[in-house]
Amino acid sequence: MAVNIENYNTIKKQLAEKEVTLVAVSKTKTVEEILQLYDLGQRDFGENYVQELVNKYEALPKDIRWHFIGHLQTNKVKYIAPFVHLIHGIDSEKLLSEINKQGAKLNRIVPCLLQVYISKDETKFGFDAQELKTLITQIMRKEVTYPQVAIRGLMGMATFTEDNALILAEFTSLKLLYENAKTQLLTINHQIPVLSMGMSADYMVAIQAGSNMVRIGSLLFGVRNYK
Ligand SMILES: *Cc1c(COP(=O)(O)O)cnc(C)c1O
Repeated sequence: MAVNIENYNTIKKQLAEKEVTLVAVSKTKTVEEILQLYDLGQRDFGENYVQELVNKYEALPKDIRWHFIGHLQTNKVKYIAPFVHLIHGIDSEKLLSEINKQGAKLNRIVPCLLQVYISKDETKFGFDAQELKTLITQIMRKEVTYPQVAIRGLMGMATFTEDNALILAEFTSLKLLYENAKTQLLTINHQIPVLSMGMSADYMVAIQAGSNMVRIGSLLFGVRNYK
């Protein structure tokens, strides 16, 4: 399968105007397919499965910035902590503690995004608005500290639907949570520059709502075949 270079160029142009970062989601795709985009200058790639990410990290150029965008189990943190550029799906304090622990072992501060649950799909993960508020307050009061974790922002997924108004409302709610968290954390000199929202089907809506990082797979690589 060849990557869709036309879509890639179109998307890159759309995102450049808005200063939005593109994470090319390469899960299930081959090393050869990834290299096709790499050769066009793409450096941010996203993967969902730990073993697949580790294999690709080993096989591919070391200047690739690997994003882990899947649901991360605590017992697998150790495999990606040494090299991962950004973990998007932090959905529990247990996971934060484990990343902190692995970061300490490696003497590395691991960049992460907190995942926020904004959709109506029950299969999705993340902190709800109230849990997020509690966590941010605890961080501000230094009631919890994760010195080896750098919280860089928020991530969320909208409901899987064709209802663009619903998607826009969900992304807008996440943008508001992001702005509030950003303002609060700034008072302790903690910056959270990243708001990761938007996939192939809804990235334009996400950008409209204020996303600055989109995760796009099928528009670039074609539809996925799950084994
Ligand atoms: C697979 C995946 C994407 C990309 O999905 P597409 O619809 O192929 O663009 C984005 N984000 C997450 C969390 C994913 O699991």
